[in-house]
Amino acid sequence: MTDATLVLNAGSSSLKFALYPNEDGSPSPILHGKIAGIGNAPQFSARDAKGNTLPPDASMPLKPCAGHDELIPQLLDWLQSHQSGLTITAAGHRVVHGGRNHATPVRINQALLAELDLLVPLAPLHQPHNLAAIRAVAAVIPELPQVACFDTSFHRTQERLAQLIPLPRKMTEAGIIRYGFHGLSYDYIASTLPMHLGERAQGRVIVAHLGNGASLCAMNKRRSVATSMGFTALGGLMMGRRCGSIDPGVLLYLMDNQGMTTRDLEHLLYHESGLLGVSGVSNDMAVLQASDAPEAREAIELFCYRTAGELTSLATANGGLDAIVFTAGIGENCALVRSLICERLGWLGVELDPDANIRNATHISSTASKIEVLVIPTDEESVIARATYRLSSACT
Ligand code: AMP
Repeated sequence: MTDATLVLNAGSSSLKFALYPNEDGSPSPILHGKIAGIGNAPQFSARDAKGNTLPPDASMPLKPCAGHDELIPQLLDWLQSHQSGLTITAAGHRVVHGGRNHATPVRINQALLAELDLLVPLAPLHQPHNLAAIRAVAAVIPELPQVACFDTSFHRTQERLAQLIPLPRKMTEAGIIRYGFHGLSYDYIASTLPMHLGERAQGRVIVAHLGNGASLCAMNKRRSVATSMGFTALGGLMMGRRCGSIDPGVLLYLMDNQGMTTRDLEHLLYHESGLLGVSGVSNDMAVLQASDAPEAREAIELFCYRTAGELTSLATANGGLDAIVFTAGIGENCALVRSLICERLGWLGVELDPDANIRNATHISSTASKIEVLVIPTDEESVIARATYRLSSACT
């Protein structure tokens, strides 16, 4: 009988899952998969450790329009039937927002859930789904230990100035501060830096997590010093559909002169802006790269222009720059974006090796580059698995 930890990453339209063996170190998943199309026509896919496709079973097909509360019991049934000889001892969840109090993962109880409910307005796209998944697991297996791993935790090492927003002090005291996100990804990358950079891992590194959501994190001694996202996952870099930081006067103008409500603005800023809004073609970088439309090229150029500018600002916050790491869907796969960003950083002494860059090699800077540039695939699930195993076994 093998004991295993279930990892769940519940988003608005997808549920990613993975099963990890309960082992110390960095175990590989026994299986991993995804239910995509949630809220519409959910589709199930899963693979074992060797990459073989695992079939759905009698508890499938998944109900159309089913939410996490209905799909998670089906997933748990599937896991039981496909993994006989395996016991799930704990479930770990990606939870986007942990507020200012949680600098580490925590065991979930009713009081914590009530606290995390209060943070839903700060992460309306993600937090409700993260919490729905926790409640759905508890409804099926109430005795199963569950652990919340927060995307905000990694940034709680930042000095106060990096977390302040220049609004009246009473608003800071009420929690309107820069929390930062993508912390599980940054945590994973930080753990791999010594392997790739040796002693330079302890230096000034900026990690560019460039996916559908995008942010930068400046690290010193592998701890977060500053990050581009702030109060919500809307700030900082331009993203697939999100605008990133904009002049707040634009919002006042749209409300006063175009009659937009807060709901209209929410839709505009979270769903209609970014790469999609600027290109009018797609939010997907691979689609934009393949497009002949000049607007698609302009969207890519703007994405890179703004990322390079923000990166320079974070290097200042960190007192210099020794290495840049690209990660997530765009960062790991899009040589064009990496080269456009690094060209703009040429004045800092950044220079790429074009062949290595095209190959998505790990080390992509030239031998003449003053700053090392790397591509490291991220792995948020393994961070959740390790923390969940550690916390759940500590309490048994
Ligand atoms: P993520 O949110 O990390 O899954 O990243 C999704 C983004 O990565 C989308 O914009 C994809 O188009 C982009 N992406 C993935 N693979 C490629 C590729 N080969 N070339 C360009 N963009 C890619």
